[in-house]
Amino acid sequence: MPIFYAKEQLIAHLELISTADSSIGFVPTMGALHSGHLALMQQSLTENTHTIVSIFVNPTQFNNPEDLAKYPRNLEADLSKITALSTNIIVYAPTVEDIYSGNPVSQSFDFDGLENQMEGQFRPGHFNGVGTIVKRLFEIVNPTRAYFGEKDFQQLQIVKKLAVKYNLPVTIIGCPIFREANQLAMSSRNERLSEEERNQAGLIYQTLAQAKIKFQNEDIEKVNQFVQQTFENHPLFELEYFVIADEEKLITCHNKDKNKNYRAFIAVFVNNIRLIDTISLN
Ligand code: AMP
Repeated sequence: MPIFYAKEQLIAHLELISTADSSIGFVPTMGALHSGHLALMQQSLTENTHTIVSIFVNPTQFNNPEDLAKYPRNLEADLSKITALSTNIIVYAPTVEDIYSGNPVSQSFDFDGLENQMEGQFRPGHFNGVGTIVKRLFEIVNPTRAYFGEKDFQQLQIVKKLAVKYNLPVTIIGCPIFREANQLAMSSRNERLSEEERNQAGLIYQTLAQAKIKFQNEDIEKVNQFVQQTFENHPLFELEYFVIADEEKLITCHNKDKNKNYRAFIAVFVNNIRLIDTISLN
């Protein structure tokens, strides 16, 4: 499996293997790979002649230094998982220096307000970091298609906006959420949970699934109250936000409009570890 740590080598390799009718599928990740990541790679393998996976813990998208310091990193294990899936995948695992050339700071973006909702409110600067790294990686890899998980739905919408605003010749493809047996959304951060916490964290999706049922017949305020009450006084969880928003603009909704598609978004702390999840309500 080809692996590159420097962009010049990756670019030279891509020039060598590209032909008039080849296509490049790209899966950006921060490593600590799980089945959700591997499903994105599998889809890319199916739809493209070449698949590139990047593994890079991007410092500029972390607003919390402890979260960055404790983010799980295990390149050897990640490479084994990728090799087990396919030896044809090209891995790009750059250093911070290779990406940021001594200046790891974010560019400022205007994503037409998408960046100010939910994660944008609670993680200041996060989407400037995401925009900076995704744009940089797209410039290096020049993908035909890029694959992003719906687990980070706001990120997916922002990357689509980035591609449109900067006229990037890439198709952004959203992929379904992979879950553990107890329906907890797979996440690299789950590695930091104890077994007991992981088991109990199934409550996050259970609550979303119940909220979806309630959304059919009840007011949005009632659904919000139900979720607040579920987590209030719970010894293990601290609810950061629960929001019902329209899928396009991600603006928090208080009343239902038949012509819009809605989605519920949640962020919960379990023992200082921040977990997010989302569900379509239509
Ligand atoms: P990350 O390494 O967390 O930055 O994630 C890399 C990509 O994998 C992003 O596009 C995520 O949305 C996606 N992803 C993360 N977790 C899941 C999951 N449970 N199911 C599907 N995609 C996921």
